[in-house]
Amino acid sequence: MPELPEVEHVVRALRRSLAGRRIVATQVTLSKLIAPFSSSAFNRKLKGSLITGVSRRGKFILIELDTDRILVAHLRMTGKFLYLSSDEDLPKHAHAIFYLDNDRRLVFRDQRQFGIMKLVPRSRLSKTKGIHELAPEPLTDDFSLSYLREIVSRSRRTLKTLLLDQTKVLGLGNIYAAEALYRARINPFKIAATLSSRRAARLHQAIRDVLRDAITDSSTSRINLEHPNGFSYGEAFERFWQVYEREGEPCFECGARIRRMTHGGRSTYWCPRCQRK
Ligand SMILES: [Zn+2]
Repeated sequence: MPELPEVEHVVRALRRSLAGRRIVATQVTLSKLIAPFSSSAFNRKLKGSLITGVSRRGKFILIELDTDRILVAHLRMTGKFLYLSSDEDLPKHAHAIFYLDNDRRLVFRDQRQFGIMKLVPRSRLSKTKGIHELAPEPLTDDFSLSYLREIVSRSRRTLKTLLLDQTKVLGLGNIYAAEALYRARINPFKIAATLSSRRAARLHQAIRDVLRDAITDSSTSRINLEHPNGFSYGEAFERFWQVYEREGEPCFECGARIRRMTHGGRSTYWCPRCQRK
C-alpha cells in the first residue's frame, strides 16, 4: 500500500501530465468505484471539464476541475493511475478511463478493487467522509508541536498505534511510523501519555524529517505513469529504511540487531538499544 510520500509523488506525476488537459469522455466499468454515480452520470458530469490542477489531502488525490467539482481518488491497496497513448493496450483491471484532449488516456486500474473515486462539490470537500476526519497535514504549520503534545498527552495507546491513526497524526503508515520512532530514539510500545515534553519535540521533528526525506530521496525513483505497474518500492526506498524490514540486521547507529514484533497483522520494527524507552 502506498504511503503518503509515494502518494505525493503520484500527485506530482499526475500534475505534470494532466494540468491544462480537458476530459473528452470517461468510461467506467466497475460501478462500485464511482457509486452512487452511474457510469453515464459520471461521464455527463466530467466530459468537457478542464483539469486545472492536482493536489492531495492525506492520501486522497484531488483532481481539480474548472467546474464546481473535484474528482477525489484514493488508491487504497492496489489502485494505480496510468497515462497511456491511444494505441497502447489497456492493462488488466482498467476500471476507469478518462479520454483526454491530447489523444492520451488516464487509466485507473485496481486489481483488488478497494480504490475509490468520487465527484465532490468544491464547497463540500472538507466535509467529505474520510477527509473530514483527517488530522492536519504533517508538513504544514497546522501540525505544530503543541498540537502533537496535546494529542499524545490524551492517549493511553502505544505510540506506534497512535501514530497510525490518521485522525490524530496524518501521514505515517507502518513504514514511516517505524522510521520516525527510530529517528526519535523512542520505543514504539511506550504509552503515548507518558512521553516527556522534550521527547515529544523530538518525535515531532522526526515525523516531519522522515516524511520530507522520503519525499526527497524517493524523487530519484519517480512514479512512472506510463509503466503498467505504475509504482513499486524501488531501491531508493529500501536504502532509506533504517529499521523497516531489517529484522535481525545490525542497527546503523549501535550495531544491535533490529527486532520485529507482529501485532494485529502489522509488524513493528525497532532497535532494542537505541529505542529502549
Ligand atoms: Zn541501535
